[in-house]
Amino acid sequence: MQVTDVVIIGAGAAGLMCALTAAGRGRRVLLLDHANKAGKKILMSGGGRCNFTNLYCEPDNFLSANPHFCKSALARYTQWDFIGLVGKHGVAYHEKKLGQLFCDHKASDILGMLLDECAQAGVELRLETSVSEIARLEAGYQLQTNAGLLRCAALVIASGGLSIPTLGATGFGYQVARQFGHTLLPTRAGLVPFTITDPQLKALCTELSGTSVEDCLVSCNGQSFRENILFTHRGLSGPAILQISSFWQPGDTLHIDLLPHIDLPEWLAEQQRERPNSELKTLLAELFTKKMAGLLADNWFVNKPLKQYSPGELKAIAERLANWQLVPAGTEGYRTAEVTLGGVDTREVSSKTMESLKSPGLYFIGEVLDVSGHLGGFNFQWAWASGYAAAQYV
Ligand SMILES: Cc1cc2nc3c(=O)[nH]c(=O)nc-3n(C[C@H](O)[C@H](O)[C@H](O)COP(=O)(O)OP(=O)(O)OC[C@H]3O[C@@H](n4cnc5c(N)ncnc54)[C@H](O)[C@@H]3O)c2cc1C
Repeated sequence: MQVTDVVIIGAGAAGLMCALTAAGRGRRVLLLDHANKAGKKILMSGGGRCNFTNLYCEPDNFLSANPHFCKSALARYTQWDFIGLVGKHGVAYHEKKLGQLFCDHKASDILGMLLDECAQAGVELRLETSVSEIARLEAGYQLQTNAGLLRCAALVIASGGLSIPTLGATGFGYQVARQFGHTLLPTRAGLVPFTITDPQLKALCTELSGTSVEDCLVSCNGQSFRENILFTHRGLSGPAILQISSFWQPGDTLHIDLLPHIDLPEWLAEQQRERPNSELKTLLAELFTKKMAGLLADNWFVNKPLKQYSPGELKAIAERLANWQLVPAGTEGYRTAEVTLGGVDTREVSSKTMESLKSPGLYFIGEVLDVSGHLGGFNFQWAWASGYAAAQYV
């Protein structure tokens, strides 16, 4: 049997940060993962370039049933702290847009940095290790693993959420939470593309698959995001769609302003005056791709020279483009979701230490908790901050 101070289950973003920080404090840390590699999601993230934090990270960028919970940890380990670590390792990065920081080269720069820090601090990393049983002792925990028995004073659950099972995601953290009497809030896929089944709409999405519209305002349930959208074979994706998906519930209507930067009624009236013989599809091709302009002109409207539209018809065109309403059939689910919404109820976890209020010595960090960020580097910032917070107390 191996006895150590801290066992962390899950060598993802939160687990690695917690491990290197706790070991840096002189704790003996054993970091376990059932996968054959640490930080698989880090490697896949940000299209392979890891959007590792956001310059404008604020508590408002997070969803949780307990919105105040994330504040303390985010304030004690900020985006500037992580940027400092990245700078110390000479990892080259840039701001892509909206404060989103990405590696210049590869996401493996971030993973390499975290693994280096772990190695320097003396973290013992054990891969392909699964935990079959956890028992609480008078002081600490005993774990049955496929590599024998372990005992530790502090047990940290950093096993993440359910998104992308092929990258090692499991419901393990939720099982442990349940075992120790925690409440679980219903989970669902977040930051995820929508699927469309309505035949006409599906045909439009399929025809336009791969086409993006640069600046759209997508709204649902009182939330709005202004970014691009992308048509896919299955439906809709792109940053604005992923963002709003975290606020969408089945049956809800999405409202999409395809041209929020244009005062459409005025613009259409002006175009009608200045170029009465131009067809609607020619006009729309100045705003969208030629193919999209043609499909919209033919499917949503009746294509004809501008002079032939009545004021009422022009108004209807403006309204449709500024408020396209659709009800997605669903989402692509955990198969492609970037995050899992819901999870371990934070009202039963200390916001200062991440320790369970039900079982002393047990900690929850990262995505397993009911804290999910917007798209743009916020989810990693939560992983770093919550991992760092727990590491001060384990
Ligand atoms: C494709 C993709 C791209 C993303 N891009 C970004 C981005 O650019 N920026 C951003 O901020 N966020 C991004 N995210 C979200 C971000 O990756 C997660 O929010 C973050 O990784 C959560 O960290 P975590 O440590 O809590 O969980 P994870 O990183 O998921 O780590 C959990 C670890 O636990 C292990 N594990 C699971 N079950 C067990 C078990 N039973 N036993 C042992 N080990 C177990 C897993 O193998 C894994 O290594 C992306 C997500 C995906 C899926």
